[in-house]
Amino acid sequence: TGGLSIRGLRKNYGNFSAVDGIDLEVESGRFYALLGPSGCGKTTTLRMVAGLEDPDQGEIRIGDVDVSKLRPYQRPVNTVFQSYALFPHMSIYENVAFGLRRKKEDNIDRRVKEMLELVDMGHLAQRKPTQLSGGQQQRVAVVRALVNRPKILLLDEPLGALDLKLRRQMQLELKRIQLEVGITFIHVTHDQEEAMTMADTIAVLNKGKIEQLGAPVDLYENP
Ligand code: ADP
Ligand code: ADP
Repeated sequence: TGGLSIRGLRKNYGNFSAVDGIDLEVESGRFYALLGPSGCGKTTTLRMVAGLEDPDQGEIRIGDVDVSKLRPYQRPVNTVFQSYALFPHMSIYENVAFGLRRKKEDNIDRRVKEMLELVDMGHLAQRKPTQLSGGQQQRVAVVRALVNRPKILLLDEPLGALDLKLRRQMQLELKRIQLEVGITFIHVTHDQEEAMTMADTIAVLNKGKIEQLGAPVDLYENP
């Protein structure tokens, strides 16, 4: 399952505590937002879940598995970054297929096309990333991260580079994708409205700690 359990997570840079004792139980198949101001430890937390950064202390379990000894690609987790990080020399189709390079998939072609259809990009499969708008590129980045069937998708300010109108549109689109694929999404943002719009559960971070945790309506009533 895509449940995630974080206990006593800490990360220091020198004598500065970027993540200062985080405990979080993430329920499988739900949309979580990590909300907080720049520098509060959101990205560092995601990077430790993804295995891109080693914790100084604490435990990260996905389902029943302690993932601390697993390399990033061995974890059932993928990440979408603010910079879409698509390969410019590859077509959209090839970019999505690249997500399957470490995975045995019976019918790669069918899987890639299915994912492109999920975001209505099938007709643009042969384009190069630079021939797409920012919103279209981010949709490709999202399905590239979903193509190998992770249990958890981590999204690090994925809409941060888009203008306001497109951001609002993509918030609804990401929400729809999460409901359709049904896996756990953990979405980092500093935008309260974005977290409120998208998440089932919001964890509010400040100075490396979780300050509040709850459904949007709970946080709205007790700000
Ligand atoms: P957020 O994602 O909430 O903006 P980050 O997790 O990126 O915050 O960073 C938390 C704090 O840790 C920031 O003050 C940042 O400058 C610091 N930090 C992050 N990564 C490093 C690093 N590799 N070396 C030193 N300080 C870092
Ligand atoms: P974010 O978009 O989350 O705020 P940043 O721009 O703060 O990300 O950081 C981008 C990268 O730089 C991350 O890998 C982070 O670990 C690293 N980083 C952030 N702050 C520092 C720092 N003070 N010293 C060294 N590396 C840092």
